[in-house]
Amino acid sequence: MRFTYVTLFSNLIEGYFQDSILKRALEADHFQIAFLNPRDNSASRHHKVDDTAVGGGAGMVMTPQPLFDTLSTLDSDAYIIFVAPVGKQFTQNDAKRLAKKSHVVFVSGRYEGIDERVLETFADEVFSIGDYVLTGGELPSLVMTDAIVRNINGVLGNSESLETESFETPLLEAPSFGKPPLYEDMVVPSEYLKGNHSRILALKLALSECKTKYFRPEQLLKHKIRTSYEK
Ligand code: SAM
Repeated sequence: MRFTYVTLFSNLIEGYFQDSILKRALEADHFQIAFLNPRDNSASRHHKVDDTAVGGGAGMVMTPQPLFDTLSTLDSDAYIIFVAPVGKQFTQNDAKRLAKKSHVVFVSGRYEGIDERVLETFADEVFSIGDYVLTGGELPSLVMTDAIVRNINGVLGNSESLETESFETPLLEAPSFGKPPLYEDMVVPSEYLKGNHSRILALKLALSECKTKYFRPEQLLKHKIRTSYEK
């Protein structure tokens, strides 16, 4: 799988691939990355990529020409994603779905955003990572890349760890405890120590339900889930 980042600030993105799981996955060729800078395609004398907004308004907008000329160079397999606060909220299902694409392109906005005609012409999808405004699209592109890469076959050592994670099912993951079982005066639930796997699973399910009910009650309503202690 390939990722191409269309960004004015590739350094912001490159650093993230220099450590941990994404570094190993990149080195193992589970995916490849490339960068395109719209400034390199700017036809203006000073390689400008922004201008004031037509009709007025605060701030600068990324102008169409550098982005049109950059995005037009992409192969036909490119699946082009714009990141913007107005987009659809990115979810785990999107991460799994996009992990099956051969080439995903992320287009990062800066300033007050990107000329709408660029999105209308090139966007396969537009995603937001949450209801807040960041200074640029580089972090959202990385957030989405990280979530997608975890779903590429072979990237995570233990594929089971994906199956039990939050958002793989409507329930959030049960609390985890690392060794030692007694730390200072804090213990783990005693059932975890008794080695009876079906009882541990039942307890984990109940704890998942409690956690979901506390942090994300709308998940239970949306999926019409009655918790085991309500049945
Ligand atoms: N004026 C825009 C608005 O109000 O919707 C915000 C522009 S923001 C300062 C600059 C760029 O950051 C956007 O074009 C987008 O690429 C990126 N961005 C900011 N917040 C984002 C979010 N929550 N999700 C995805 N992208 C975001």
